[in-house]
Amino acid sequence: ESKAGGRGRVTVFDEEMLSDKRYRRLVERELRAAVYLGELELHYQPIVNPDGSAYALEGLVRWRHPVRGLVSPAEFIPIAERSTLIDMLGEWVFKRACADVGHFPGRRISINVSGEQLKRDEIVTMCDRVLRESGRSATQFIIEITETVATAATPEILRRLEALRGLGFHIALDDFGTGHCGFNYLKTLPIDGIKIDRSYIRSLAHDQVAQIFVSALAQIARIQDVTIVAEGVETQEEFALAMAAGCNRFQGYFFGRPAPRDKAPLRTIDAEPLALSA
Ligand code: C2E
Ligand code: MG
Ligand code: MG
Ligand code: MG
Repeated sequence: ESKAGGRGRVTVFDEEMLSDKRYRRLVERELRAAVYLGELELHYQPIVNPDGSAYALEGLVRWRHPVRGLVSPAEFIPIAERSTLIDMLGEWVFKRACADVGHFPGRRISINVSGEQLKRDEIVTMCDRVLRESGRSATQFIIEITETVATAATPEILRRLEALRGLGFHIALDDFGTGHCGFNYLKTLPIDGIKIDRSYIRSLAHDQVAQIFVSALAQIARIQDVTIVAEGVETQEEFALAMAAGCNRFQGYFFGRPAPRDKAPLRTIDAEPLALSA
């Protein structure tokens, strides 16, 4: 499944191609050049408050390939993660976000950081340096890491997360529910937010286990004072159900697809969510 968010997009790098070492090298070289050639774009998708106003914007990278068209990060991030190319890409993303954050007054930009980047101290020095160079404050940003990274975190990775948090970044757990994160992790991890994976939101209407899971998570989040984002909200009904389950932030096509900076909305829906008895 390609969750690139683009209609009619095709997979350009398939598994078979990537299992070919020479082919992978070629794509890697192309990707490295793409950074210099300005072929990368950072699109933004709103994360909204219950009233539909943007609370933050998530930066999602795209590769505008001259021949292949707009390539999804799901396709090229795994290639970049095989080498330190991911560090270079991550730096490009954060620089772009620093340059763009002024366009979204009062909103944080949320960026995705790969578990591979967290394996090296450079993530902390890079963020610190880019902030100083751009004159931005870490408090204008959220760093999203996947649940899988958090549960497999070594003491070094935890130290880096603490250091980033010490700089002022908020840390959010992305795709929560897809990994093996026990509720007990939520007590010990240095986090400020949890993003519940879209698969749970999609199931809310017909799956009681999903409802109980999301509600329990939302209650824990409230006690720990962390924000709880429902990911992948596509319909008014999903919005209402996620709200009823206790989520306090929402993201998904219902509110807006990822879009270039100047098209990213700070206000989305106007309608009140359906009144449901919780
Ligand atoms: P993610 O961080 O979990 O981002 C959410 C993905 O779901 C995005 O796909 C977004 O376009 C898509 N999405 C949002 N709302 C909906 C919805 O209502 N329905 C559906 N079906 N999909 C929705 P995208 O942009 O293709 O990104 C895929 C993944 O690539 C991201 O998942 C993230 O893990 C990774 N990624 C994207 N940008 C970066 C980046 O700058 N650095 C790193 N390391 N990874 C990135
Ligand atoms: Mg994310
Ligand atoms: Mg996610
Ligand atoms: Mg995801």
